[in-house]
Amino acid sequence: MHSIQVHDKSFTSFLSHEEILTQVEKIAHQINTDYSGRCPLFIAILNGSFMFGSDLFKSLSIEAEICFIKLASYKGIKSTGQVTTSIGLDVSLKDRDVILIEDIVDTGKTLHEFLPQLFDQNPSSIRIASLLHKPDALLYPIKVDYLGFEVPNKFLVGYGLDYDGLGRNLKDIYQLKITE
Ligand code: 5GP
Ligand code: MG
Repeated sequence: MHSIQVHDKSFTSFLSHEEILTQVEKIAHQINTDYSGRCPLFIAILNGSFMFGSDLFKSLSIEAEICFIKLASYKGIKSTGQVTTSIGLDVSLKDRDVILIEDIVDTGKTLHEFLPQLFDQNPSSIRIASLLHKPDALLYPIKVDYLGFEVPNKFLVGYGLDYDGLGRNLKDIYQLKITE
């Protein structure tokens, strides 16, 4: 199995770029069908979702808009339990069909804390698209409407996901080798 090193840790290959793109295409197809004629507003949650967001957005054939917000809860390989916002929303959500784009839903805390701010603006609807979901780590009642892969509760890097800043440029997704 292909192994890589990021900072002080070893990772093994988990999802190939081809497998990822196949799932992204499936999600795009589903959204094209569900939102036909509706021009949804995508909100990609930076940093992690930039690559998934870009591939998903490129694959859409319906009219759609996209904007970005920066939320973070991870330090190193652990969730801090604290969600910080460093770029806010500059687009009105009133009467819009909103689709949030996440790289991964882990505990669900990020979305659980962020969703009320969005509902305050009276959008018509809000759905969640996430490339990855760790159901075993979920602590908050978050439902992912469009999901790429359910994954085990292990730390991942690649395709936008980082380990302390590095690894985002990897095309495939890698899983932490459990040696420690
Ligand atoms: P949650 O608030 O659901 O616990 O965490 C969501 C955020 O934590 C994700 O958007 C992602 O940025 C980060 N995260 C969760 N699991 C992983 C992981 O396995 N690898 C990386 N690199 N980030 C993760
Ligand atoms: Mg994220």
